[in-house]
Order: sequence, then C-alpha cells, then structure tokens
Amino acid sequence: MEKTDYGKVGLKVGLEIHQQLDTETKLFCNCGTKLFKEEPQITFLRRLRPTQSELGQIDPAAYFEFQKGVKIRYEANRETSCLVEMDEEPPHKLNEEAVQTVLTVATMLNAKPVDEIHVMRKTVIDGSNTTGFQRTCVIALKGELKVNQKTIPIEHLSLEEDAARKTGEEEGNIIRYRIDRLGMPLIEIATAPVIKSAKEAEEVALAIGRTLRTTGKVKRGLGTIRQDINISIPKGALIEIKGVQELELISLSVEYEVRRQLNLIRISETLQQRGVKGKDIDETFIDVTEIFRQTKCKVIRNAVDRNLVVLAIRLPKFGGLLKWELVPNFRLGTEMSDRAKFWGRVGGIFHTDEMPAYGITSEEVKKLIQFAKAEESDAVVFVADSAENAQDALEAVVERAREAIVGVPEETRAANPDGTTHFMRPRPGAARMYPETDIPPMVISDEFLGKIKAQLPEPLPLKFQRLVKEYALNEKLAKQLLDSEYFELFETSVRESGVSPTVVVAFLTETLKALKREGVEVEGVRDELIKEIFKGVGSGKLAKEAVSDVFAWLAKHEDKTVEEAIASLGFKAFSEKELEEIIDTVITNNQTMIHKLGKNAFGAVMGMVMKEVRGRANAVLVGELLRKKLDSLV
Ligand SMILES: [Zn+2]
Repeated sequence: MEKTDYGKVGLKVGLEIHQQLDTETKLFCNCGTKLFKEEPQITFLRRLRPTQSELGQIDPAAYFEFQKGVKIRYEANRETSCLVEMDEEPPHKLNEEAVQTVLTVATMLNAKPVDEIHVMRKTVIDGSNTTGFQRTCVIALKGELKVNQKTIPIEHLSLEEDAARKTGEEEGNIIRYRIDRLGMPLIEIATAPVIKSAKEAEEVALAIGRTLRTTGKVKRGLGTIRQDINISIPKGALIEIKGVQELELISLSVEYEVRRQLNLIRISETLQQRGVKGKDIDETFIDVTEIFRQTKCKVIRNAVDRNLVVLAIRLPKFGGLLKWELVPNFRLGTEMSDRAKFWGRVGGIFHTDEMPAYGITSEEVKKLIQFAKAEESDAVVFVADSAENAQDALEAVVERAREAIVGVPEETRAANPDGTTHFMRPRPGAARMYPETDIPPMVISDEFLGKIKAQLPEPLPLKFQRLVKEYALNEKLAKQLLDSEYFELFETSVRESGVSPTVVVAFLTETLKALKREGVEVEGVRDELIKEIFKGVGSGKLAKEAVSDVFAWLAKHEDKTVEEAIASLGFKAFSEKELEEIIDTVITNNQTMIHKLGKNAFGAVMGMVMKEVRGRANAVLVGELLRKKLDSLV
C-alpha cells in the first residue's frame, strides 16, 4: 500500500490515553475494582432520559441517543456494586489513592497540580452511566514528555470514573450493561495536537504507557487502556476516534483515517467538478416495493412478505462514487450505510453502484432506475424496512450525501479491531460539563504533594540499568520487560522464588504473548497464582518446563490452586530418588551403547531420560545426576 507523506498532508494528531488504575476501591465508593463473569445477582431496568444540564442546555448528541427510545437492563453483583453505582445513594468522597497516583504521574510529567480538585459531570446518555453523566476532575495541567528529542506538551491529567460495560442487546430496544466496571478510576492524559505522523502517535502512546506503568498502580490486560485519537488534516475535518485498545493499532488507525479523509476530499472535488449542489438532492422518497414483490434477494423478500416497504432515493451525479474505496473494504456507500443504521435502525442499505448483487437481478435494477427517473451518472440508494425507519434511514443518507459534496464531516468514530473505524455519533456540542454538587472540592495541600514527590517511582533509565546489572538480563529482555506490564511481578517473583531471572522474564514476556495468541485468557490468572507457580519451581515441586502448561490450566479453571493444577496435569516433579531410578533403568537398557561410547554417551542418554521426565524434572538436576552415574560407570 502506498505510504502517505504526512508532512505534505499537514497531519495533526492529539492523543487521549485512558488507563484504569489498580486501586483498592472504586473512585466514589468502597466497592472493589474487579469484573465478574458469573450470572448477575441483581438486575434493574431503566429508561434513558436526557439530563437537563444545570446550564440549561441539552447536548445534541445525547438528545439523539435518547430519541432512539432505548431501555437499559443493568446487571450487578454485591461484591462489585453498591447503591452508589445504582444511583440510589450520593457518591462518597474522592478516592485518595487514585488522586495520589495521578499526582505521581503528573509530577513525572512536570505538570502543575491544581490547587483544588473540583469534580464535574459530563453528560453521557448512551446508558453506560446509571446517572446519565460521567464524573471527571482535572488534577494537573501543562506538563510535557520528551519523545525522540521532541517535547510533547501534555494538556491535562484528569481522573474519571469508568463507565459500565455493554454485555448485549435484547428484543424491544433493550441494551444490557454490567455496572461492575462503573466507577473504576481512570487516569486520562491528553497531549496537545502536535503529533505529525502515524509512527510518532504510536511512540508517544508507548512513552505515556511506560510512564504510567512505572507507578505500579495500573491495571493490565485488554480493555484496561483505551486510546482516543484526534486527527485532522487541513482540507479535512477534526475526527475523534474512540477506544483504540491495542497500542499496535494506533499507527494503523491514523494511517487509515488520513487515507479516508484524503479520499473523501477527492470525492468532494469530483462531485464539485460534476457540478452537483446539496439542494440538487430531491428529498422525495420513492416507494419501489412493487418492483421487489418476487425478488430473490432474501433480505428484501422477507421485508416485503412482512408488509414492510422498499423506499428509494436518487442521488444525482453520484454514480460510481458510492463504491469508491476509502480504506480497505470501506466505501462511501459504507459510510451512508452506517448513518442509515444509526438514525434509521435499519440493517443496512442497497445502492446501484454495487448492483446486480445479493440476488437482485439486472432486470429489477433497470426498473428501479426507471422508477427513480435516474440517469447513468446518478446513484440510487434503497432500503427495506418499516416506512418510518426507511424514511429516517434515507434522510440520513441524504444528509451524508450532502456532506460528501462539501468534504469530510466532523464525527466521533469508534475503532474496529482491524484499524478501521465506524460512525459512532455526531461530534458532541460544547455544553457538556457542569459541577458535581454532591462532592466537595478537595484541596491539594503542599504536605500531600511533598509526600508524593518524596516517593516517586524509580525513573525508567535507572530501572533499565538495574535489570541489566542486578538481574543480568540482556538489553533486549530488559527492554521487553519494561514495555510489558509485568515489571513488579517480575521483581517479586524472582525475590520470592529464587528462580533464575531469565526464566521468569522469558515467561512473563515471550511465553505469555504466545499463550495469548493461542487464545489462553492470560488476564484470568491472578498475580498471586503466578508467584505461586514460580515458588513451586524454586522449591523443586514443579519443573520450569511445566510452567506454561500449569498457567494455561489455571486460566481455564477459575478459583483453583497451583497444587490442584499440578495434580490434575500429573506434573508433580520427580523427587531426586525417583529420578535416579529412572536414570538407572535407562542406563541398564542401553549398556552396550554406553560401554562403546564411554563418556560420549552422555548426550544420547540425557535425551532418553529427558523424554521420560520432561515437564516433571529440572534438566540441570537430571544432567548432574546422570553425569555422576556415568562417571562411576566408565
Ligand atoms: Zn459501590
């Protein structure tokens, strides 16, 4: 694929990094900060209501979501939620441990703490907050971070409560949310929009991530860090991409977004050359149901049989442009379809640029074009649903088409796992914040700050040196460990178990990555268990070769112990006595060969013994025992 010249394009990127903090309790109550997998103990149904903000304005994005008439079923259990999450009790005071962590990061980034922390409410009514708003507070302003000799200004560091997580949808416009995550503390770090390339965006995110992890106070695993990316190019628009979860996807997301905007600009230029204006799009929807009475297209036929309608709209001079690929497998037609789904609750749209297809014949297309009085240079978009939904959907298509003439529309888009994005909602209006009156402001005293400054985490370069010197790790492994989320766990495991640092680090970096690729839920295994595994290796209960199997077993069996894993897998390490017996048998069975080769038989015999004991014995110990035996024999 053709690489974009970002300098020429004039790209500007800003990042907003959200990371869950690993505090004892949530931000505004005493519930623990973990998620549950079991069936919920409590559920309750609420209807979405737009909150009339105290500034007297309703946020337009919030209002449209309300208009969709959605109900929410919340799921909870007693361990992870109380009346605060259910919005039945006012929030308690701000969690000091969380404030302390944000101030620690702020100090490391040279940001200036505010004198008083004021908790604010930010309107969110997609149902992810039971209150209809998210609580957030600025903790520090104007910091900076050096990345590759360039200073990246940090605009602010804030503390916010995480939202409930969506677990599914039900018939009757009901969305299910689980409130275990609601109220977990999140640190938000926002950079100025000074990032100039896709690669730089990724490097800045990595550097911020490293700084966060040095505190040892952040959660790890997929979903615990979420990056929002603000992207703009001069003739394009400011686009906010929400929720990029993997660091590796940042540069791809930026690259795709730039290409999407460049293509939309080209489409707009083409439409202008063709002389089409917004007002040329006639908003009369044509009922074309009759054409499709006997259609072989299943989706349309089902709709027609259920007495729904097929409505069409002519887009003058849009012929060929709906199939224009913006990014891989993503066209202008896809953008129209996204909007139609959002505003019209329809499954999708059809258009003549992709016809004949889906069982729709050229005969039907010909009739459709006639009915719509379309010409070859036009496009016809049609949709099958209830009259109301079909109209809403086509209105959204018309709006998107008019925007295509002008250029790139400003939107909030959500990240897909492949680096592309989809329409999420219009850009929210400005009046989104108002004060949280239930929580008094918190003063940041000099004493509190002094305490934080006195306990700053070890700076990264020093940590790196220590890994290389103290633990004799090579630079590659040391760097990998610092970039991983396991530094703390590494140090405690090595200290507590006495296992070689190289073994521990290889497991925490490479093995875990490999297990994850194989689909093992690595986040399901608690740190305590990982430490136990290494203690088992240290005490000779478990062979280091068996660590990965024991771990994978524990990931599948919640609430089980290392002992149980070892027993179930039959991985109990052989005692020295048992090993000697096995070695003796192998020696007896291979006497002729051993007499012939003498000391040179070691390799071959070792291989045979290891085949018998792999996963249940330490190779070094086997080697020592075998050598002793062979020495006494020859
Ligand atoms: Zn609670």
